Amino acid sequence: MKINFLGAAQNVTGSKHLIQTQGYNLLLDCGLYQGRRDESNRLNSTLPFEATEINAAILSHAHLDHCGTLPILVKNGFKGKICCTPATAEIARYILLDSAEIQKQDCEYLNRHLNPGDKEFIPIYTPEDVQKVLEHFETVDYFRQTNKWTELNENIRFKLYDAGHILGSAIIFLEIKENGLTKTLAFTGDMGREYSPLLRSPEYIAEDTETLITECTYGDRNHKPLSDATSDFKDVIDTAIKNKGKIIVPAFSLGRTQDIIYILHKLLDEKLIPSLPIYIDSPLAENITEIFPKYIKDFNDNFWKDFGSRGDSPFLLKNLTYVRSQEKSKALNNKPGPLMIISASGMCEGGRVLHHLKNNIENPQNIILLAGYQAENTLGRKILEGQSPVKIFGKNYDVRAQVKVLNEFSAHADQNDLLSYISHIKNLQRIFLVHTELPQSTAFKNILEKSYPSLPIEIPAMGSIFEV
Ligand SMILES: [Zn+2]
Repeated sequence: MKINFLGAAQNVTGSKHLIQTQGYNLLLDCGLYQGRRDESNRLNSTLPFEATEINAAILSHAHLDHCGTLPILVKNGFKGKICCTPATAEIARYILLDSAEIQKQDCEYLNRHLNPGDKEFIPIYTPEDVQKVLEHFETVDYFRQTNKWTELNENIRFKLYDAGHILGSAIIFLEIKENGLTKTLAFTGDMGREYSPLLRSPEYIAEDTETLITECTYGDRNHKPLSDATSDFKDVIDTAIKNKGKIIVPAFSLGRTQDIIYILHKLLDEKLIPSLPIYIDSPLAENITEIFPKYIKDFNDNFWKDFGSRGDSPFLLKNLTYVRSQEKSKALNNKPGPLMIISASGMCEGGRVLHHLKNNIENPQNIILLAGYQAENTLGRKILEGQSPVKIFGKNYDVRAQVKVLNEFSAHADQNDLLSYISHIKNLQRIFLVHTELPQSTAFKNILEKSYPSLPIEIPAMGSIFEV
């Protein structure tokens, strides 16, 4: 069989891998490339293969960089099924609809600023295109829940292991019969940490795994332990209460927001932090949070110890308000501190958080709390690096609010997690490192080579093809 590396190859976005075996074309993930506008549009609007020739797709999880070009696949004539866990199917619907809406708003904005003769911008897909994707979803439970493999044809079957990265995330394990031989391949998608607030640890693969395609976003470093978040949160909240200030937390609607609510709720229950009003100002975060209680069977032992055994929801608590309407979002501006506003986007590149930053960033009583990865060239990165003034909606604002960083939150395995996971794989013959920038993957490859000197370890380039 051939593996075509068509995205998230020597970068961390646009995850797409095509497996070709005996005339069958199987796509693992179909993610959106996120980067500079021109390049992203070019890479996202056409796929690097004929959609009509793809027989089936398996989706590892619902992050946009793994599912975001499924509407292009379907629009271009894909007729097969898209297999994923039930939670992934539910979340992907919201993520894709949100993506279509952002594109619409983006294009409307750009079209208002066109020069005479410029071509109009059009979204690469619409909400109607997203609806058509949903008809292709075929849900597959984690293997631990059914003990059943899913057959794609007489030669290909797969099962899903829990990846522990976000709700519904899966490690895809494939068994492929080719010319009388059975070949095995696992694709980690994005892999979670050994310990996360709510989700289980990534499940080990029971079978021999000849080929591993693994993410290694953080192959070169280790995260701070999650337990450190307690004292960091306490410091920030104590300061806000003393100053009657506002804490603005830019956070991704999927994953990070739920993790933060969970931890705050637990700390409040244990009286480790003082109470203050908390607002979740993101309709997408509210939609996604509503999906979580349906999947409590997928949560870890901590959840059962902290909340599940007494039938409590971690996502509902006194003083926590979900803000849906734009009017109520605007009204937060007139509320006196102390209070906390958790809002998207996580890197301050768009969304309602920009309004809260604009209104609060010049007041030294307030705190900007950065709890996620801030990519280069984003407003979040500029704030993180201490730039002042910063531009928000085209105007300069002095950064007088305190800027605090929580490094404990990450939904990705770190170097130790990855090494530990790989050490549990049986009969490993080769490794492909994906979903990573070159410095991180090179550092990780060097470390792996010390433990596995005879194992071929590749960092495939975009567009490269390997026969295995
Ligand atoms: Zn992810």
